[in-house]
Amino acid sequence: MPNFCNLYFSLKTFITRKDLREYLSEQGAVTIGFVPTMGALHNGHLSLIAQAKQANNITVCSIFVNPTQFNDRKDLEKYPRPIEADMAKLEQAGCDVLFNPAVNEMYDDNEQWHLDIGQLEHLLEGEFRPGHYQGVMQVVFKLLDIVKPTNLYMGQKDYQQFMVVSKMVELMHIPVSMVMCPIERDADGLAMSSRNVHLTAEDRQHSLILSKTLNWVKANFNNRNIAQMQQQAMDKLAAENTVEPEYFRIVDGETLLLANEDTKNIVALTAARVGKTRLIDNVIIKWVVVNGS
Ligand code: AMP
Repeated sequence: MPNFCNLYFSLKTFITRKDLREYLSEQGAVTIGFVPTMGALHNGHLSLIAQAKQANNITVCSIFVNPTQFNDRKDLEKYPRPIEADMAKLEQAGCDVLFNPAVNEMYDDNEQWHLDIGQLEHLLEGEFRPGHYQGVMQVVFKLLDIVKPTNLYMGQKDYQQFMVVSKMVELMHIPVSMVMCPIERDADGLAMSSRNVHLTAEDRQHSLILSKTLNWVKANFNNRNIAQMQQQAMDKLAAENTVEPEYFRIVDGETLLLANEDTKNIVALTAARVGKTRLIDNVIIKWVVVNGS
């Protein structure tokens, strides 16, 4: 008997690679849209599911809190894991399949991993969370190998993650199309995140400075004073109570290196601690369409 728990949900849930693989191969020549997550699902995640459902025969979501991408043990331990509420949300969203493996289903003891994708993984988040993207690539590589999706849906919310995974897909010749989905925000502008539940009511108010500052940079963008704008943005963040900015960078959207006057595609990205919670956010300042793509 395949190991799925179909007692209350029409959503098919698998906890082993083998059973998921068998089920997906039995479906024949279908298109598969895949949405990898760490759970504690919110409308941001559900917007990815909705986009996958529109364009594929089967939508697969994974929920796996991946230990190898956490460089802070406490962050891993306190990461929210409301699996029953998540399953209800997936069911309601019309997701077809959930893959929810345990850690020992995904990793052998003392497994070693290194994939060299160049400097992309060492910039921005990589500076403040060393090793984070090796962990992300490791788990996404394994998940892609199991699910073998046609399309992979990831959020602009984790812009650098999208670029890192795209680079891995390109270097490893993985046959999947990457789809970037826009950032879902609360009405006041805060980017939705599973970690927002850790914000106190006061922190929640202070956290709005992230999206406000990103919008300010977009509205006042001038390509002749990029370095100065970055500094002004850092000052705005630092001036807010309980907010400790880690970085605010205005970069080339492909290389993630500091933008200059000639840069075509420009993204502003920021990370800050708000109270005890680390938040990231970004905004696309301008994107020039090349060759109709
Ligand atoms: P996570 O569970 O945080 O690993 O996120 C799983 C996927 O959902 C990633 O591709 C994220 O970029 C995406 N995601 C997270 N937050 C949002 C959001 N507010 N809007 C859109 N996508 C998001």
